[in-house]
Formats: sequence, C-alpha cells, structure tokens
Amino acid sequence: MRNALLVDYEYCTGCHTCEIACQQERGLAPDEFGIEIKEIGPYQLNERKWQLDYIPVPTERCNRCLTRTQNGKDPSCVKHCQAGCLSYGPAAVLADKIDHAKMVLFG
Ligand code: SF4
Ligand code: SF4
Repeated sequence: MRNALLVDYEYCTGCHTCEIACQQERGLAPDEFGIEIKEIGPYQLNERKWQLDYIPVPTERCNRCLTRTQNGKDPSCVKHCQAGCLSYGPAAVLADKIDHAKMVLFG
C-alpha cells in the first residue's frame, strides 16, 4: 500500500522544527528544504480578531525519509513535531482520518 504524509496544520505554531529536523536528517543546506513552512495571512476575521496560518508543505526534496521509513521508523519531521501536526503511513488509512479543512494529504 502506498504511504503518504498527512499534514494537519490546525495547531501548527510555525516553530520550524520540522524544517530543521529534515535538514539534519537529509544533510541539506540551510537554504534547502524538504518541508517548508508557508504563511497565509494575517487576515482579519472581525473587528478584534486576526488570523495567521502556518502551513507545512513537503517539497520536491522530500523523499519521505526512505532510510528511516524502510527501517520502520517515522520520518524525522513527524518524530520532531511537538504539536502532532504530521503523520506518516498508508495513504488510504490517513485519508480516512481527514475530518476538517486544515488537513492535507501529500502522497
Ligand atoms: S508542523 Fe510542527 S514542527 Fe513544523 S512548524 Fe508546525 S508545529 Fe512546528
Ligand atoms: S519525510 Fe523526511 S524528507 Fe520528507 S519532509 Fe519529512 S523529514 Fe524531510
């Protein structure tokens, strides 16, 4: 069964830990990213409330941590996200978990 990364950015703090964990795991330079935090906003919800979303997006450099995952480990970004925004596993299983609009599956 094909595996994938599920990003649930509802509670992403934009801490960039996943970016750094990926760079260290993959030996990437500071300006090279296997996963990148995009910012959307800030946009105004009402007179007193603003919103800024951080969205982790795997790039073309992401190889789904083949060395780790072939040995039964989670990808480095998944392991290091303290907010639990990232999951790895069979795409069909992860797709079943999607229950709100801030969850995105990367196959
Ligand atoms: S996905 Fe997790 S590790 Fe990455 S920026 Fe968001 S909270 Fe931080
Ligand atoms: S799965 Fe591995 S290669 Fe892909 S973004 Fe996460 S840490 Fe980087």
